[in-house]
Amino acid sequence: MKNRMHQMIIAAVAFCAVTALAAQSIEKKPFGEVDGKPVDLYTLTNTNGMTMTVSNYGAIITTLTAPDKNGTYGDVVLGYNDVQSYVKATPYFGAVVGRYGNRIAKGKFTLEGKEYTLATNNGPNSLHGGVKGFDKVIWNASEIKSAAGVGLALTYLSKDGEEGYPGNLTCKVTYLLSNKNELRVDYALTTDKTTVVNVTQHSYFNLAGDGMGDILNHELMLNADKFVPVDETLIPKGVLEPVKGTPMDFTTSTAIGARVNTATEQLKFGKGYDHCWVLNQVKPNTLTLAARVYEPTTGRVLEITTTEPGIQFYCGNFLDGTNIGKNGKPYNFRNGFALETQHYPDSPNQPTFPSTVIKPDKTYKSTTIFAFSARK
Ligand code: BGC
Repeated sequence: MKNRMHQMIIAAVAFCAVTALAAQSIEKKPFGEVDGKPVDLYTLTNTNGMTMTVSNYGAIITTLTAPDKNGTYGDVVLGYNDVQSYVKATPYFGAVVGRYGNRIAKGKFTLEGKEYTLATNNGPNSLHGGVKGFDKVIWNASEIKSAAGVGLALTYLSKDGEEGYPGNLTCKVTYLLSNKNELRVDYALTTDKTTVVNVTQHSYFNLAGDGMGDILNHELMLNADKFVPVDETLIPKGVLEPVKGTPMDFTTSTAIGARVNTATEQLKFGKGYDHCWVLNQVKPNTLTLAARVYEPTTGRVLEITTTEPGIQFYCGNFLDGTNIGKNGKPYNFRNGFALETQHYPDSPNQPTFPSTVIKPDKTYKSTTIFAFSARK
């Protein structure tokens, strides 16, 4: 009897050790071809069994699982199953956007006395790096395994003049899926000529699960007392406005759908929320809590911290059912939201905004952490 108990205890301890310390892993497989070149899909798994799949095409995160209140992991990002769908039509699902995430007015800016002209791909403006931004190029990938977790270092050289921007820009984006259920994204960029940059991660989330309908019941907190008001083409007016007393106030957690249809000029221009919030940073370039999102049916929580001064909150107002997602279901109006940590839109033309200019003598660095958990 005593022996039997002893054996059972040993078995239980062994089982706990295995579940607590499941091996982390990285697997690589072909993900098709783009422009005749093969691209890959990497599956990263941490010690908790949380997984992320990433392609070196566009540095796109195609799936990312997170635990719910019962400890069940489910995919919480929008995307496609095959690379050709990304090539054909994507509203930047899961990609790294750059060189300049967000809009530059009329696709023009002046730097050191010289005017630069970019392609205009969003009404009169340039959006997310132009016609062929960082979301549409093939990156070099190398695997990272450390005690903290598993990751991918993705590098890309954007040549001088690419999409109209000056300078050879060397870009490194590092994704680390930590064993604390965090996705850490580090950016390191260098240039050989003065240029402008604003890179960000453009995942669309639905914490109820990919393909689970609209995101209007998600409760959002934004650590921001001000936002960046825009004109009808979503270009900043040049001032920062307090959120207090307006539907832009997310300083206390509020359902995304609670005020999204209020008849204000800003919500009309954005067709809902599609604005940059000014983060209450204690100090520039230090990690600050930016946003917390809670989904009540699953209990999932996403908390975002960043070194960036702003966050673009976009609630999927342009999703119209034409993109068919991983589950074979169309992504309809407001079926996902993006929280893009970044500098403010059109900063190259806005002298009072934090600068997006980088010079050859310095490495531009930026970090954002997406932490996943659940409330009972
Ligand atoms: C922008 C939206 C745009 C979306 C997809 C977001 O970053 O703010 O206006 O529709 O990206 O392009």
